[in-house]
Amino acid sequence: MNKPRIVILGAGYAGLITAVKLKKELGYNEAEITLVNKHQYHYQTTWLHEPAAGTMDPERTRVDIKSVLDTNRVQFVKDIVIEIKKDEKKVILEKSELEYDYLVVALGSEPETFGVPGVFEHAFSKWTVNGARQVKDHIDYMFSKYNNEDQKRDELLTFVVAGAGFTGIEFIGELSERVPNLCKKYDVPQEKVKMYVIEAAPTALPGFDPELVEYAMNLLESRGVEFKINCPIKEVIEGGVILADGDEIKSETVVWATGVRGSSIIEKSGFEAMRGRVKVQSDLRAPEHDDVFIIGDCALIINEEINRPYPPTAQIALQQGEVCARNIKALIKGGELESFKPDIKGTVASLGGGEAIGLVYGKKIYGNSASFMKKMIDNRSLYILGGPGLVMKKGKSPF
Ligand code: FAD
Repeated sequence: MNKPRIVILGAGYAGLITAVKLKKELGYNEAEITLVNKHQYHYQTTWLHEPAAGTMDPERTRVDIKSVLDTNRVQFVKDIVIEIKKDEKKVILEKSELEYDYLVVALGSEPETFGVPGVFEHAFSKWTVNGARQVKDHIDYMFSKYNNEDQKRDELLTFVVAGAGFTGIEFIGELSERVPNLCKKYDVPQEKVKMYVIEAAPTALPGFDPELVEYAMNLLESRGVEFKINCPIKEVIEGGVILADGDEIKSETVVWATGVRGSSIIEKSGFEAMRGRVKVQSDLRAPEHDDVFIIGDCALIINEEINRPYPPTAQIALQQGEVCARNIKALIKGGELESFKPDIKGTVASLGGGEAIGLVYGKKIYGNSASFMKKMIDNRSLYILGGPGLVMKKGKSPF
């Protein structure tokens, strides 16, 4: 009998952990496992605000997939997924095609623009390793350009972050911490630098504990960040943003961080979705497609306590990857399929410079202890993916 073919799309948190766990759950002769990813490396998406602001070497976020995966057991294909032909049980890649018996879709997310024009043309919106490199290089260039032009243009030193959610706050935390060094390096008076965080919702970090939000805002304001809350952006234009009230902020650097939608491959492949996310069954399979698991940022699951979707997080993606691997094993070897229930241990947002805020096991934490916890969480995800060796190689010192 032919071995069942399992194809996993995406080597982010969800896809890579599925591959790592499947290798452990299934014997050599029990399945043929293939992992497809557009790069030969996995990256720690949750760290990308640091290289984007220039406070971390982007290399540090990359993990060579072959260093954490037994490629004798899991075949790795470096290619780009173009479309899933679910009725033909095959995946179209840029350079080839793959047939499957079981498919795991873990292609992550893309920026959500909410229909605001100009985002892709004039803002930095790619939260990837190369996207982070581009933002960092651009910021440095703005500082060097400012002093090299005869006419001093304020927009070169005005930095706009769209969105005061986790990503926007973590990015401005790093940037605001780095600004004094940038000013020193490029001989720029610090009062010339303007940093704005613009948020459409009535609060920064919507849904987060108000006391922690206040702590974060006060700290960031003390570093020169100006918040514009309840203030939707109408358009991103060349050289700035236009706000809903008609005001314009001139800026040569707009960083888009208003949230994400699931990979466009989901809708292109005909799955019913809300903002690119498929409302999966409790066993993580797509409705009416018993051979397709959808996990990570491509999956939508409802928090029944508040009847709203869980926000897409690495924490949930990793947990889904583990359940997905066990459920595929159950389909192949027999047994009950597990229902997925997120086990939310907490949430911690870094604010740069050894500062953070968080809610861990229901307890509020601030400052250095929160920053310590954040680094432990970052190291934990490395541990889950690649064991102690990966933590030694790429991990963060908690002190
Ligand atoms: P990803 O980790 O994005 O992985 C998707 C993979 O698919 C990538 O390797 C990508 O290259 C690959 N891929 C995509 N399209 C294709 C294609 N067409 N062909 C081939 N390969 C493809 N979450 C937390 O829990 N805590 C945090 O503190 C936190 N902080 C964050 C900070 C930032 C700056 C950002 C951007 C996100 C943060 N998140 C955080 C959210 C978290 O990173 C995501 O929820 C998580 O990465 C989702 O995992 P995933 O496996 O679904 O997707």
